[in-house]
Amino acid sequence: MRVEFLGTGGAVTTPQPFCRCRVCAEARERGVPYSRLGPSVFVHGPDVLVDTPEDIKEGLNRSSIQNIAAGLYSHWHPDHVMGRRVWEMNLDFRAWPRENTPTDIYLPQQVGHDFRKMLGSWDHLKFLEDHGAIRIIELTDGDTFTLNDTRITPFRVAEDYVYAFLFEAAEKRLLIAPDELNGWKPPDYLSDLDLAVLPQGLAEFDPFTGERRIPKHHPVLRVEATFDDTLEIVEKLGAKRTILTHVEEIDGLTHDDLQTLGARLRDEGRNIDFAYDTLIVDV
Ligand SMILES: [Zn+2]
Ligand SMILES: [Zn+2]
Repeated sequence: MRVEFLGTGGAVTTPQPFCRCRVCAEARERGVPYSRLGPSVFVHGPDVLVDTPEDIKEGLNRSSIQNIAAGLYSHWHPDHVMGRRVWEMNLDFRAWPRENTPTDIYLPQQVGHDFRKMLGSWDHLKFLEDHGAIRIIELTDGDTFTLNDTRITPFRVAEDYVYAFLFEAAEKRLLIAPDELNGWKPPDYLSDLDLAVLPQGLAEFDPFTGERRIPKHHPVLRVEATFDDTLEIVEKLGAKRTILTHVEEIDGLTHDDLQTLGARLRDEGRNIDFAYDTLIVDV
């Protein structure tokens, strides 16, 4: 398997329009790897696209992807779904009769339920299905499916409207957890991972100076995992390698800062890297 990071930003991508902070200023001037599209990864092998942020078309256009066998959604939040129109690329606007090439879209159980209530995602996907752009496949919790000899198992994290995905192929085990690991305790069946892709978590403290960045009683700290929480999860998972993504612009960390931090963590014996847009990693 091979993981391609199409977008490594979080709910707020980098640069944020009109933001004058140093992270955004640098990203605006220098582009990749300093800029970050919304959160999405592609897994080569099974050829699965995980989530479609609003800028997914740009991520796909600059990628090495040749074919998308299936799409997967992790949860209903806008930063993960608002690029649903990308599936219109499967519609044949030239020939008549049309020769559409629909993509299978897998929706874990709760995602299917939430899409019916939130942001019009269900109506929009149905519209795309009716026009021949996609086929919706609703999963029940516990279901697995296999694509190109890769077994894919969606499962809920502690925030139980959110799914992570275990990919298993040729004795390799890959975990993709797109977001929302607040309160999550990794289950035993996730031992022996070759690679874990996890959200970075909010920088409650500046990782270099230790200075508090988010006020102690800010409600976001009750609902979001912090970077320190993430390091605990990394420790418990014990994957051979971990790559952190879903990097929030508001954390105020540049690509260079994160590369420095990654080097420090590896010096401490932890095999952790920070993702950037266009990064490709073999598993
Ligand atoms: Zn997100
Ligand atoms: Zn900014």
